[in-house]
Amino acid sequence: MNWETVIGLEIHVQLSTRSKIFSGASCEYGAEANTQACAVDLGLPGVLPVINEAAIRSAIKFGLAIGADIAEKSVFARKNYFYPDLPKGYQISQFELPVVSGGQVEIQLDDGSQRTINVTRAHLEEDAGKSVHEGFGNSTGIDLNRAGTPLIEIVSEPELRSAEEAVAYMKKIHTLVRYLDISDGNMQEGSFRCDANVSIRRKGEEKLGTRAELKNINSFKFVEQAIEIEIERQIEILEDGGKVVQETRLYDPGNNETRSMRSKEEANDYRYFPDPDLLPVAITKEDIETIRSQLPELPDALRARFMNELDLSEYDSNVLSANKDVTDFFQTTLALARDAKLCANWIMGELSAALNKENKEINESPVSAERLGALIQRIKDGTLSNKTAKQVFEIMWTSEDSPDSIIEAQGLQQLTDSSEIEKFVDSVINDNPQQLEQYRNSPIEKRGKLIGFFVGQVMKNSGGKANPQEVNRLLKEKLES
Ligand code: ADP
Ligand code: MG
Repeated sequence: MNWETVIGLEIHVQLSTRSKIFSGASCEYGAEANTQACAVDLGLPGVLPVINEAAIRSAIKFGLAIGADIAEKSVFARKNYFYPDLPKGYQISQFELPVVSGGQVEIQLDDGSQRTINVTRAHLEEDAGKSVHEGFGNSTGIDLNRAGTPLIEIVSEPELRSAEEAVAYMKKIHTLVRYLDISDGNMQEGSFRCDANVSIRRKGEEKLGTRAELKNINSFKFVEQAIEIEIERQIEILEDGGKVVQETRLYDPGNNETRSMRSKEEANDYRYFPDPDLLPVAITKEDIETIRSQLPELPDALRARFMNELDLSEYDSNVLSANKDVTDFFQTTLALARDAKLCANWIMGELSAALNKENKEINESPVSAERLGALIQRIKDGTLSNKTAKQVFEIMWTSEDSPDSIIEAQGLQQLTDSSEIEKFVDSVINDNPQQLEQYRNSPIEKRGKLIGFFVGQVMKNSGGKANPQEVNRLLKEKLES
């Protein structure tokens, strides 16, 4: 039987505002438990929420970046449920009139194909607190620092067709919010997490199958694994003649399985209604245009520009536009070294290998973009060969010295003076009469290969410093004569 997978994602993105969405308490991560929840976050009697304008601007930025409609009038609603980490008994969210409706996201897949995924909506809401189980014996601790932290929840249409597509979509949203500088996207700290709704149906069937909702997944790898394993589970049920029940499930990475959390019968009826404490938000056309004019260049545009203007391959362009830190690094290096391909090669090659080895992110690189740019300049102007440049790079990795002072201290300048190179060439020819004879007795088409021996010797004797073009030119001249 041929099954088709249907996935819709709800992604929660924590906005990096200084204060909470309806109060002045700090959103800084990592503070001592319950030191950053004020009377508003606790829902104490007599307090009133006040909307944080920065959170609305962030939501508008996101909406504009995906070509969505921005509501002129947007409304906050109470989503009512009981949970120990929700002191008010309701979460302030949006229901009928979210800030952002519609919009599209382009995703690139491994086979080089591209798809457009429609976004249903993105709404603003407050986060809840956190239950803490460690260190409380049989009890549960509650930390309310996170209560009231601003989130946008981005809901996709059920258009994703595989775990790979879901991950590509999630990565694209992650890239976007970081480019827009509206979230740090830190997945370990829970600033970027998603619920994956998964169902299957027979190929060709129009009606959607019954879905399971996989809650709160906070890594790309887990999203992929959770969806894969859930698809397998559902196929098995249907092929055995059973029925998938609509329910919320949790992914357990340790056992690589999903487990039922609550079924639909236990599902909450949230009884949404407009929050009487908050006025509707009026967003003017001027507000929208001002924010639009401040948008940075976005990954899709950058990717296209890298391909068209800088003549980089699609692969290089994808890599260099997928992560804002990498893009910034590349652009800074390029501004100094002015050779896109060479910069791309160094960043994706030598630099990335060195970072991987030490498990470092590019923004922690001991060799800054400026220093790498200065190094690449020295390759461009002929001071260094690629080989000696790698030696300099290694030294730069563990020292603060500039490439120029390292080149000077190590005497690594490339030898470009012909008469100097000629001495190396002559001595190699003199020292290897046998190879010389072999060369001269060979037909022209074989000589190209044989010359490699002489080039290698000259490079070795000159400590890798002789300019390879000049070595080749001189060798040809002398061997042929
Ligand atoms: P809720 O989770 O609050 O019930 P929705 O019903 O609007 O909200 O759906 C939330 C997400 O589930 C959306 O991303 C949507 O695309 C996706 N979705 C809805 N139905 C299905 C389905 N049958 N299979 C897979 N995804 C679905
Ligand atoms: Mg949901």
